[in-house]
Amino acid sequence: MSNVENVIVIGSGPSGWTASIYMARARLQPLVIAGEQAGGQLMLTTEIENFPGFPKGIYGPELMMQMRAQAERFGTRTVDQNVTRVDLSKQPFQVLVGEKEYFAKALLISTGASSIMTGVKGEQELIGRGVSTCAVCDAAFFRDKTTFVIGGGDSAMEDALALTKFAKTVTLVHRRDSFRASKIMQDRVLESPKVEVVWNSQLKEIKGTQKVESILIENTESHTVTELPAEGVFIAIGHTPATGIFKDKVQLNAKGYIVTNLGLEKESIALAQKSLEEGAVPYITRTSVDGVFAAGDVVDFKYRQAITASGYGTMAALDIEHWLENHAE
Ligand code: NAP
Repeated sequence: MSNVENVIVIGSGPSGWTASIYMARARLQPLVIAGEQAGGQLMLTTEIENFPGFPKGIYGPELMMQMRAQAERFGTRTVDQNVTRVDLSKQPFQVLVGEKEYFAKALLISTGASSIMTGVKGEQELIGRGVSTCAVCDAAFFRDKTTFVIGGGDSAMEDALALTKFAKTVTLVHRRDSFRASKIMQDRVLESPKVEVVWNSQLKEIKGTQKVESILIENTESHTVTELPAEGVFIAIGHTPATGIFKDKVQLNAKGYIVTNLGLEKESIALAQKSLEEGAVPYITRTSVDGVFAAGDVVDFKYRQAITASGYGTMAALDIEHWLENHAE
């Protein structure tokens, strides 16, 4: 077969572009299938202040454009369409974009994850104008503001704690009367004098014209709806990895994230053990399919930062370069 790529990268967030910069500079001429909404979660953010190298901050979409330009400068080719299907059962791997077929010796899955949203009125309209999905990223913009965090898991606890350093008030709104979060995170939140908890309550609407002005919450028992003045609303009800097309093709964990040797869960430890037993080099970004690698938020359910995704992309690029050298025909 003559039209086989060295490597196809599926997804175009920080992990995909960073991997492509490295692989393009290694003369692998990666092909990135970037998706119709290229750029990932950073396309939905405003200013990023914690990506090293930009002391004055940089807008998320601008950072993604710069990463793409850097990858393309060294010979990365980009297709701005969605992958519809993959066949990972034999070499070369087949990647379908509608009717168009692509083939590659190695594959990098960097399709990312997205925040689960509540879907209430005002949420989408006010994203970046008081509504956020990442307090670790945005808390500093809410100095002395009245803020709310929606959710009861570890993400909600982490967001509430991040906000306590800046906000005037932090109120956690949870739909039940107990948290799902780990005990240690719950304790930290409940011991914080700055965090108040409103139990048994659901967010019903976020109000505001130019920016968030108030929220409506409904008590799940009495069904009373209360309007509370608000300047910031952090949605922390979980994330969902973009792994639909990889189901039953590579190993996923119970929450749908791709399992790699680097993962934090017991499946990953088993995978790492298996690769050692097989005498394979324990490429830490490898998946359960030899030649298929994964990086960024599609694997990482814990750190989820642009810079960790970039670092993860770098590891995958180096693993792929090495893997291709060892699998040259
Ligand atoms: P999660 O554990 O799935 O928790 C989601 C929370 O949001 C739950 O409390 C859930 O309520 C609530 N929720 C879900 N849908 C809702 C809706 N439509 N309206 C209102 N509330 C809703 O998700 P997560 O907190 O993002 O954590 C995901 C994983 O990452 C977990 O394994 C977690 O331990 C890990 N994580 C770890 C850290 C850390 O270690 N520092 C930080 C963040 C995340 P119910 O409880 O009623 O279902």
